[in-house]
Amino acid sequence: MTLATLRDVLGGPRAVAGLVVLGWEDARAFVDAAEAEGRPLILQAGPGARAYTPLPVLGAMFRHLAEAASVPVVCHLDHGEGFETCLRAVQAGFTSVMYDGSALPLAENIAVTQCVVEMARQAGVSVEAELGVVGYAGGKPSQATDPAEAAALAATGIDALAVSVGNVHLMTDSVAAIDIGALQAIGAAVPGLPLVLHGGSGIAPADRARIVRESAVRKFNIGTELRQVWGASLRAAVGRDPARFDRIAILSETLGPLTTAARGVIRGL
Ligand SMILES: [Zn+2]
Repeated sequence: MTLATLRDVLGGPRAVAGLVVLGWEDARAFVDAAEAEGRPLILQAGPGARAYTPLPVLGAMFRHLAEAASVPVVCHLDHGEGFETCLRAVQAGFTSVMYDGSALPLAENIAVTQCVVEMARQAGVSVEAELGVVGYAGGKPSQATDPAEAAALAATGIDALAVSVGNVHLMTDSVAAIDIGALQAIGAAVPGLPLVLHGGSGIAPADRARIVRESAVRKFNIGTELRQVWGASLRAAVGRDPARFDRIAILSETLGPLTTAARGVIRGL
């Protein structure tokens, strides 16, 4: 049994990968990668995965993998839209939830986050909150995190805080300019609280390591760069034999490339 929460894995000097899972192949490859590297892992189910696969199925899949893993694995809900989604995730067996109230006025974000923290505590589940808006490449613009507001949100008892300091979701190139000074100011306002950077694919690997050394960032959310690897390996597997139609034969060929790429991500943090 190696089920873990954010509290169990974010206390050390290194950061932990929060890898975005869309299905069985990537979840399995990511756990294989974490075991090969001897590092903890955060499996994350975001809104896209939940729209495609029911939450209880994702929860059971994550827990099955975590319980059999040789390293600590956190079963994490990414971008929970409200209290209800977080509650359903806890009921589905997730060991950690993110409540994303970043689009709300601060007082409302704090109020709902507080409710989620109290509900999660009773179940032994950890909570990540968000303050400031992390924008999307080609979409919603970002809004920087304010350190004083971060301190107010942290007082709810959250276990990690996602911040906006130049990081952007869904970047296909690693060209984000992270404001280390802003990260340090936020860190000083919330001593001891691990910070989270969403949009990790947009941050060059060398920058990720430097950010960890110079700030309180201990979790990077990474999806896009591994989905790109999976897409390329799937196209190669499909094209290798036009007569082939068995999905297991085709999809199992994506596991090796995805595991190798995830090992590189995990090793670099
Ligand atoms: Zn995110």
